Amino acid sequence: MISTQKNKMKNPRYMEILQKNIRDALSVQHVILLESRKILDDLRFIEVLAPVIGPSSDPGIRGAKRVSFDYYGKQYKIMSSMILYKQALIRAFDNVYAFAPNVRLEPLANTNSDRHLCEFYQLDLEMKDKTIEDVMKITEIFLEKLLYKVDLLCKDILSDYNRNLIIPSGPFPKIPYSKIVDIADSEGFPMLYGDEIPWEVEVELSKHACKPFWIVDYPAGSRGFYYKVNPDDPSLLLTMDLIYPHGFGEASSGGERETDVRRIHYLLRESGENLEEYAWYLEMLKTDGQNSAGLGIGVERLTRYVLGFDTIDKCTAFPKKPGVYSI
Ligand code: AMP
Ligand code: MG
Repeated sequence: MISTQKNKMKNPRYMEILQKNIRDALSVQHVILLESRKILDDLRFIEVLAPVIGPSSDPGIRGAKRVSFDYYGKQYKIMSSMILYKQALIRAFDNVYAFAPNVRLEPLANTNSDRHLCEFYQLDLEMKDKTIEDVMKITEIFLEKLLYKVDLLCKDILSDYNRNLIIPSGPFPKIPYSKIVDIADSEGFPMLYGDEIPWEVEVELSKHACKPFWIVDYPAGSRGFYYKVNPDDPSLLLTMDLIYPHGFGEASSGGERETDVRRIHYLLRESGENLEEYAWYLEMLKTDGQNSAGLGIGVERLTRYVLGFDTIDKCTAFPKKPGVYSI
């Protein structure tokens, strides 16, 4: 039997949340949530409550594992992202968003990355009949408005941390993936064309930037089955990442959604996914595939960026770092 003494946590979170830095982060996050809702309402987005469990969830999560459990005799997943459900919702509304909880068992190697949690929230946006270019433009408008308001309303807190938040206006620079591979090579992080960009590389690139920037033109086969192939160049996908400046790394990923059921079917099969889990999704696309585009912005990473904090675990009330037992 485990003794209660041995099981006692060193610094329980219910004590740590009394610290000024954590209370400040949660106060700033409150403003981020509130102002995001106002801006998105003005931009005519409908807020939905995100699903938490379901038969399928996003498999393209960079080496992290999804959590499965028995749901009355069937296998269910806890959402690793609500991407597939956004594609269902966009059939009913032109623009939707959710502050969606995600659970991903991140590899232990990410424990000290300062930006990975096993439980986090995404601000998930999806827009009907929009292109990847439209999404980038709307995100630039949204971020500029949001950072302006958060800076204004949280001035006192930010000044306690000497945080001089830059309010970026669009268009943000767009760097093609192929150029990132070359830069990674010259910075001593060799990567193969087609690999996901290692987070160390993102951080290095981000250190040299003084404004957020997009990474575009990912090669076909490098990312999730739900990204559309670029019709002008089938060797590329219509997907992008947004990178924060000053070393804060990835802010968001997104793109234009694939509606070609045969291609999705092929890619799911090729990656060893259980097609039964995706039956509803494939059926939906077959019946009436809806063109849409969108992205997901990590809320805790955004909070960290606004405050300029060193680690993400200060930016949520009850952080779950990979491999760390906590409340
Ligand atoms: P992804 O679909 O993996 O690109 O995730 C979308 C966004 O969610 C990322 O751009 C990050 O801002 C955020 N995110 C992804 N994984 C994590 C994680 N393990 N911890 C915190 N935020 C995350
Ligand atoms: Mg990503």
